[in-house]
Amino acid sequence: MHGTANAERLISLRTDVERLSLDILRLLNHRIRAVREIGTLKIADGMPLRDREREEALLRRLSADNEGPLDEPAMRDVFHRILEAGVRLVRSGRPDGLRVEADELRRPLRAGGHTLDGLAYVAGPCAIESEAQLDATAARLAALGVRFLRGGTFKPRTSPYSFQGLGAPAVRMLRDAGERHGLATITEVTSPTQVELVAEHVDVLQVGARNMYNYELLRELGRAGRPVLLKRGLSATIEEWLLAAEHLSVSGAEQIVLCERGIRGFDRETRFSLDLSSVPVLAQRTGLPVMVDVSHAAGRRDILLPLTRAAFAVGACAVMLEVHPDPDSALSDAEQQLSFDAFEALVRAVPRDLASAAMELARALPHPAEGRAHATSAGAAISAP
Ligand code: PEP
Ligand code: MN
Repeated sequence: MHGTANAERLISLRTDVERLSLDILRLLNHRIRAVREIGTLKIADGMPLRDREREEALLRRLSADNEGPLDEPAMRDVFHRILEAGVRLVRSGRPDGLRVEADELRRPLRAGGHTLDGLAYVAGPCAIESEAQLDATAARLAALGVRFLRGGTFKPRTSPYSFQGLGAPAVRMLRDAGERHGLATITEVTSPTQVELVAEHVDVLQVGARNMYNYELLRELGRAGRPVLLKRGLSATIEEWLLAAEHLSVSGAEQIVLCERGIRGFDRETRFSLDLSSVPVLAQRTGLPVMVDVSHAAGRRDILLPLTRAAFAVGACAVMLEVHPDPDSALSDAEQQLSFDAFEALVRAVPRDLASAAMELARALPHPAEGRAHATSAGAAISAP
């Protein structure tokens, strides 16, 4: 008897839940139509599509009116997703949607015959100090299976009294070392006047943290026809960083890799605060590959291994590390550069399945777009030594 009553109640509750779900769907689509219309009006008036203050005010209003039993975090989570879905639908196909948010950008960076994905490393000295220093470093890195060689040529130093880099001669040394050891090369460009020279000889042009807001430089780099590695500014929001990438993209850059390198925090134990949350957040916002520079974030050698593991685990396509034949005598960033042996030990201690773990993570991220091409290959750039 009791059993039958329960079964009947269950059927009726299920019917209610189904009807309520359909009602919610109808309301959601109704809401999307209104949001779309707002988007059209905003575009016509040249207004930005997104108004975060208004979104926050809406969430506060909803919190105040929420009678439960839906609790505050669950309510916020649901509405956060509804807001995101609305914005995405308005942006898709709109001329003012960011180009760097477009799905066709979902591909790994290729340069100098190599692909920056899997457990890839971008390694090399903070600054190129001599041909011998660079050649020894390139030889050891190539032997370890590293495919991307970095080396500072024009150094943006905080103090004008510090070593400023060797400039143009170092650009040629980098090209030669890359050619000799079969490595793709990367160096930072600090002024529009250097772009032509560097683009002629080097595979990937780097924008340093101090120059992320230098839009004239970004435009010149965008026109250079080379892939660009864009570091996050010292205190840049993710939005500002994406807009800097947009500057590169609209001026012609076809391949851009974003590089998290820590942001200015209040703690002095590390040089900067490494914001690893930017990696999955960016994976939701953009198809551009994202890498992490652990050396400049940490500013010290002893914690680079856990930071490297963590960077790969959250989905970084590559990790940048500074490597020097004799770190203690380095002319810049001596305290954070790794010796050859220390670099090798670090690489060996990074579990090789981290890249596939990161791919799983990337796939699990909520995003309407199909496929996450920058995480498509588990091919490790480091061959097991
Ligand atoms: C660098 O990579 O050489 C460098 C100076 O880094 P950042 O711009 O991130 O400080
Ligand atoms: Mn450095």
